[in-house]
Amino acid sequence: MTDGKRTELPVMSFEKPPELSSTIGEQGKRKWVYPDLTKGKFTTQRNILTTVLILFYFLAPWISVKGNPLLLFDIAGRQYSIFGNMFLATDLYLFALFLLLSLIALFWFSAMFGRLWCGWACPQTIYMEGVYRRIERWIEGNPRQQRALAEGPRDEMYWTKKVFKHGVFWMISTALALSFTAYFIGPKASYEMFWTFGAAHPTAMTFAVATTALTYWNFAWFREQFCHFLCPYARIQSVFLDEHSLIIGYDPVRGEPRGAKRKGDPEAKGDCVDCFRCVQVCPAGIDIRNGLQLECVQCTACIDACDVVMEKTGKPHGLIRYDSAAGIEHKKHKFVRARVIIYMAVFALLLGLFVLRLAGKETVEFAIVRQPGTPYLVQEDGVVRNMLHLHMTNADAQEHTVRVQIDSPIEAELLVLGEPFTLKPGERAMAEAFVMVQKEKIATSSTPMEFKLMDGDLVVGTAAVKFLGPVGRRK
Ligand code: SF4
Ligand code: SF4
Repeated sequence: MTDGKRTELPVMSFEKPPELSSTIGEQGKRKWVYPDLTKGKFTTQRNILTTVLILFYFLAPWISVKGNPLLLFDIAGRQYSIFGNMFLATDLYLFALFLLLSLIALFWFSAMFGRLWCGWACPQTIYMEGVYRRIERWIEGNPRQQRALAEGPRDEMYWTKKVFKHGVFWMISTALALSFTAYFIGPKASYEMFWTFGAAHPTAMTFAVATTALTYWNFAWFREQFCHFLCPYARIQSVFLDEHSLIIGYDPVRGEPRGAKRKGDPEAKGDCVDCFRCVQVCPAGIDIRNGLQLECVQCTACIDACDVVMEKTGKPHGLIRYDSAAGIEHKKHKFVRARVIIYMAVFALLLGLFVLRLAGKETVEFAIVRQPGTPYLVQEDGVVRNMLHLHMTNADAQEHTVRVQIDSPIEAELLVLGEPFTLKPGERAMAEAFVMVQKEKIATSSTPMEFKLMDGDLVVGTAAVKFLGPVGRRK
């Protein structure tokens, strides 16, 4: 494909016989994958990132920034926190804008870097490879020992290891489910739910228990099939990818014809010695030499495995490598394409709008409307009075106690009924206010005035309104 038009990608062609999935064999029987461990540049980098991300995903709802959770998606309470910035129901447009931004970023990221997210940052990969498979290796041994255990007798050793492993899996799944639930109810409610065994928040507890069961089922049994059958992102990938997107691919030009080299071979062989190391380490259970496949999460394990083989056979690294489909075919790689520019332009536009809106967002939203039908009243004592309705919404995660202050170019008196107002997070309040000005002080029929909501010395909201009155005549 070149800029906008989709074509069939040569490296995506399937040479292997069509089958439902790499993990489902004949008669629909599950084929278990026992991926070998790899060593190499990418494995080291991924291990570091995996550790950081496990901590981040697990702790994000518990970390407090500006008094708010780092991440919170409280759908029932209609409040959301993105890196400590609180969005309430009144900020729905901001939240929608944020989601739209994320979507455009996803389009751009996928067009540029393919499934980099899947292999390096997706929680499914991170927890599967960084937690569950590690525990499995710790209890059941290396992949060969795991296979032997699965195919061996159902003796005491078998049941001891299986029961222990699944017990640990269940405990880890419970911890992950509690952390996941905290994303939706916040840390405070999570603590209450946990320490009261769900009595304080029964719905959230039901959600946590169901999530525990699903998490356990997914990581203990379903595993790599999640990416293949359930993940919507994996399924829509081909829409975003073109021949210049980053992929992990096998170079058939360099590698074929594959096979072990022997003295006196009549035909020259390619660099692939057909050792199957790339297949043995693949957590998706596929052979990358068959072309780019939906199951491939671009985890880099086959790159590291093949590079070791290349070192041993005295060939350069990169028979399997990060490249584009065009690059793998030894064609010119285009980094900047029309679709990438369009995604970036739309993203920049939306980001600008989002930042502007965010910068203008007030802690307490404040609006003033005039008493309908009565612009002003002139009292017998010569005082002109405007009656106003004040609307306040606490858009912050903290409680605020506010008073109203007037900033007027002419001498004016403000009377607000019911001050001060204590507003809990998300709470609204309405009040009536009167602004009074001596008639002779009025120089124009419409005098702009500013109103500030003060929490102590802090301005937490502002609104402007025009004071209406007859133009005063000096005596
Ligand atoms: S690891 Fe490399 S050399 Fe071995 S089979 Fe795979 S592509 Fe061929
Ligand atoms: S083919 Fe390679 S990059 Fe893709 S999932 Fe398997 S090991 Fe990872």
